[in-house]
Formats: sequence, structure tokens, C-alpha cells
Amino acid sequence: MSYLKEKATAFLMSRIGKTAHVIAAEHITDNLLALTLHLPHFEKWRSCQHLKFETEKSHYRDYTLARWDEANKQGALLIDVGHDGHGSNWAKRLKPGQSLLYAGPGGGFHQPTNAAHLVCIGDTSAIGQFTSLYHRKGAQQPLHALICHQQSLPPTILDMPIMTTYDHIAGIERWLLQQPFPMHDTTFYTAGHIPLVVQIRKLLKRLGAQQIKAQGFWE
Ligand SMILES: Cc1cc2nc3c(=O)[nH]c(=O)nc-3n(C[C@H](O)[C@H](O)[C@H](O)COP(=O)(O)OP(=O)(O)OC[C@H]3O[C@@H](n4cnc5c(N)ncnc54)[C@H](O)[C@@H]3O)c2cc1C
Repeated sequence: MSYLKEKATAFLMSRIGKTAHVIAAEHITDNLLALTLHLPHFEKWRSCQHLKFETEKSHYRDYTLARWDEANKQGALLIDVGHDGHGSNWAKRLKPGQSLLYAGPGGGFHQPTNAAHLVCIGDTSAIGQFTSLYHRKGAQQPLHALICHQQSLPPTILDMPIMTTYDHIAGIERWLLQQPFPMHDTTFYTAGHIPLVVQIRKLLKRLGAQQIKAQGFWE
């Protein structure tokens, strides 16, 4: 983030920042952390909304609200912590009872459509985006999630069934060719590492996908 953008964000945070409290921090795998937060000021959850957290003074990172429990005002974040970064190191240090400063929500542009199939493809940082779609789709509407990850993931995360590929774009193409998705009646969602999202979008277009909702998160 540029110096000026950092200053502007810090100013905004001092004006509109809200407090969240950590209820639980649990590893789903070595590289994937699930945080449960109490967010007393949050309302009107939609799919694919993110919150901007202050990870240290003048450092901010966006994380998607993966699931929301309105009755208890509790939200889940799923954070990829398998690399050395400001956000991942901050997340790994969090403990129950800690308070956090955040702004938002932002985003929320991608929602479940009425298509016969919803298909989500991305990396570990995108799982929260996909569970947020899963929890707001139609009850009978199938959602298929394929995650590129170097370790095997559990068969469900926050109740959403997932499949894993270790083989990036080649594995994604193989998987897509095995699925009989009707291209005219399927909405594809892709998110995560920007170069991967670009490749997935190109692949989907080549295979005839008509509705693609892409969001790059990090470089
Ligand atoms: C709208 C939006 C929503 C997002 N939602 C989520 C979310 O729900 N969960 C989530 O985990 N992230 C999410 N992200 C990404 C997140 O905000 C950070 O950009 C990302 O986690 C990297 O931050 P960092 O500080 O850990 O690493 P940085 O300090 O930014 O980067 C350090 C190094 O690690 C590499 N790197 C960064 N991220 C990853 C990664 N995931 N895997 C492997 N290498 C990486 C970078 O290329 C760089 O070399 C979202 C981003 C946006 C814009």
C-alpha cells in the first residue's frame, strides 16, 4: 500500500473502525485457520463481503466473512496462513479474548445466481468466499467447490463439501472435463491468487462457460 493510501486508511479507520473479539482460533489444516469472531456491530450479511482488519499499526488486510450467525452476532473467517506475510503472521498469533479493529463490510458484489449449478474454483484464500455463497444459495441448488491446495483438505469446511486438486490448472481442466455442467445454466465463481484467477477465467471461457464471476485477491 502506498504511503498516502496508508495514511488515508489509518484516518478512515480512526473514524469508522469497529471492534471485534476473537472467540476461537482453530487450525483446519496447518495452512488454514478458522477464526470465530464476535461482531456486535455487524448486520445485513451478504455473500462475498470482506472486512478490513488492522493487522498492525498502518497495516491492513481484507478477509471474507465466510459464514454469519445473526442470532449470536458471530462470524467466521477462513485465513490461508501457509506463507510468511503480515496478515498470516497476525492471524497465527490471535488468541481467544483478543480485540481487533476492523472496517467494513465492503464488497458483496457476487451473489448466488438462479443457475442450475454453482461452481467455485480457487485456492485456499478463496474458501471463505465460496462458503459465503454456499450458505446463501437456494436449498436445492448444487454448489461444487474445487480448491487448489498442496495438502488434502477435509471433505467439508463450514458444512460446504469440497474437492481438492494438487495440480493447479491441469487438475482443474481434468476435473471440469469430467463434470457434465450445462454451460448455459451454470455460474462459475473464481477467487484467490490473481494469476491463477486469470488462468481459470481463460480456461472456463475456452470450455464455453457463459457466466463467470472472478475476483483476484493477492499477487
Ligand atoms: C476482497 C478480498 C477478500 C479476501 N479474503 C480473504 C480470505 O477470506 N482469506 C484469505 O486467506 N485471504 C483473503 N484475502 C487475501 C488477503 O487479504 C491477503 O492479501 C493475503 O492473505 C496475503 O496477505 P499476507 O499479509 O498474509 O501476505 P503478504 O505480506 O501480502 O505477502 C507475503 C508473500 O506471501 C505471498 N502470499 C500472499 N498470500 C498468499 C497465499 N494465500 N498463499 C501463498 N502465498 C501467499 C505473496 O505473494 C508474498 O510473496 C482477501 C483479499 C481481498 C482483496
